[in-house]
Amino acid sequence: MEIQDGNILHLLPEFAAMVETALREANRECTGKFDNIGFKELKLFEGYRSQARQEALYDQGRTEAGNIVTNTPIPGYHGFGIAADCVWYDRLNIPHWDGDAGLWEIYFHCAALQGLDVGGRWHSFPDSPHVQANHLVIKDWRRKGHDYLKELGLSTPPL
Ligand SMILES: [Zn+2]
Repeated sequence: MEIQDGNILHLLPEFAAMVETALREANRECTGKFDNIGFKELKLFEGYRSQARQEALYDQGRTEAGNIVTNTPIPGYHGFGIAADCVWYDRLNIPHWDGDAGLWEIYFHCAALQGLDVGGRWHSFPDSPHVQANHLVIKDWRRKGHDYLKELGLSTPPL
């Protein structure tokens, strides 16, 4: 399977800037507060996701070995470069999806301040690492004729 794409440069630049600011502010807030769990920093784990990788993830736990990790074969916002999954890394550089609720709350708060749609605050199927561009911002980008869909070789926008 293709490995995850953690390159922030593969995201829509306007969206990437929001994620970078959220991460910088969350890390400033978190540094020194979570030494007990070995916290080092919050980082982008996966941003852009191709159709092929999403389908491979979907097969996992269904037609392939492993646990089910996704409910959909469609990459959605990740496929448009306007979603990011950020997780926290410990001092050994190992990523973590779980852990201290207070740490995640800081991440949610900083992401929300950037106007991001925060997966950790969704009522159905909360997804702590996931943030995506909100509908109003996407509408604004489209009104300005943003050509990011063309750049990514995609034709169907998420809205
Ligand atoms: Zn995600």
